[in-house]
Amino acid sequence: APSICAPLPVLGRDVTVPLVTGGEVTYAALDYAASAPALQRVWDDVAAYAPYYGSVHRGAGYLSQLSTDLFENARRTVAEFLGCRDDDQVVFTRSTTDSLNLLAAALPAGCQVFVFETEHHASLLPWRDARVTYLDAPRSPRQAVETLKRALADREPHGPALVCVTGASNVTGELWPVRELAAAAHAHGARIVLDAAQLAPHHPVSARDLDVDWVAFSGHKLYAPFGSGVLAGRADWLREADPYLAGGGASRKVTRRTDGGVDVEWHESAARHEAGSPNVIGAYAVASACKALTEAGFDTLVAREQYLVGKVRDGLADVPQVRFLSLFGDDAPRVGVLSFVVEGWNSSHFAAALSAEYGIGVRDGLFCAHPLVRTLLGNDPQTQGECGSPEAAPGEKSLNAIRVSFGAGTPDEHVERFVRAVK
Ligand code: PMP
Repeated sequence: APSICAPLPVLGRDVTVPLVTGGEVTYAALDYAASAPALQRVWDDVAAYAPYYGSVHRGAGYLSQLSTDLFENARRTVAEFLGCRDDDQVVFTRSTTDSLNLLAAALPAGCQVFVFETEHHASLLPWRDARVTYLDAPRSPRQAVETLKRALADREPHGPALVCVTGASNVTGELWPVRELAAAAHAHGARIVLDAAQLAPHHPVSARDLDVDWVAFSGHKLYAPFGSGVLAGRADWLREADPYLAGGGASRKVTRRTDGGVDVEWHESAARHEAGSPNVIGAYAVASACKALTEAGFDTLVAREQYLVGKVRDGLADVPQVRFLSLFGDDAPRVGVLSFVVEGWNSSHFAAALSAEYGIGVRDGLFCAHPLVRTLLGNDPQTQGECGSPEAAPGEKSLNAIRVSFGAGTPDEHVERFVRAVK
């Protein structure tokens, strides 16, 4: 069995916050699913490079060339991290949301999209201009595959089709059967994009091994700072699409026509969708995080995280008021993301108390996955609960839930404090 590694050093370990009860305590960041603290290693790498950065792809100056090399090396590092095929493209974006919107803008004409209603809004909503089939929430991984197969069998044959699925739920942490869903998609002539925002920070993700056509993730959930993301995968749809943004860097040649207009030849490489001066520091930070996680080893990272999941589950097993939310069952494999409600408690008040009285940062709400959370809470899918809506009064049915999430930087003490506080 892999050993359980020590937490990786992250920023913010010594941040103290005031308590309403008096005094202060070190902050327990247990909201990794929203944004993970940056790894110290990423910060150090960025700090070492910062004095030297320059604009990429343009300058003849030494630092400009250095930055171009680092930017293109970062692309290679990410390609390796994601198990990309030789002819895949890695496009640097701003986030998972940006990556999926870019792919949505690159869909071939007439593309049919299949997406489970349980998705995060970033993977549920970008396809609205296409013909979208929303699939009902499955109650087991097997049912997910069967549901997709049935929907694909009913589709018009021969036209382009895309399945979008998340690898690990940002609400329940549950792992989805990505390999089986990819096989089903391909058997019916469809392609598949993996939303790996919650999966990539916790598990190795290989486009090749999972046989998915694209992978999207965000730097800020992968222990790098905000503002950088990735869309990696098949080049053809990306190459044939109009540039996501029009501008410098995406265009190879621009000429004035005799009728007064302009003709543009766009790049066919990833630069086609990276117009403007790219976020070279962000790309460098993402690559640094990919390297750090690979070097730490996902076997030990997964073992540590499962140990922390066990601490939460076992620690709260004798608190009957706590109900964990799951689609596939309490024992389904999951990453370090758990949502729950506490009977008789208002979720928002509960989360606020964890912060004010214990210095613990969790999230409450519907987690940008409204249809899923309503299903999990057993509420009416159409009418109940909105982002920012008033919570149910204590004793009434919950409209919101509480989410605790952790990862490579989480010390035991944070999870132990959380269990004590909930109790
Ligand atoms: N997909 C999933 C599963 C997520 O958890 C998130 C972020 N909560 C996103 C997509 C969107 O990520 P970002 O906000 O970085 O674009």
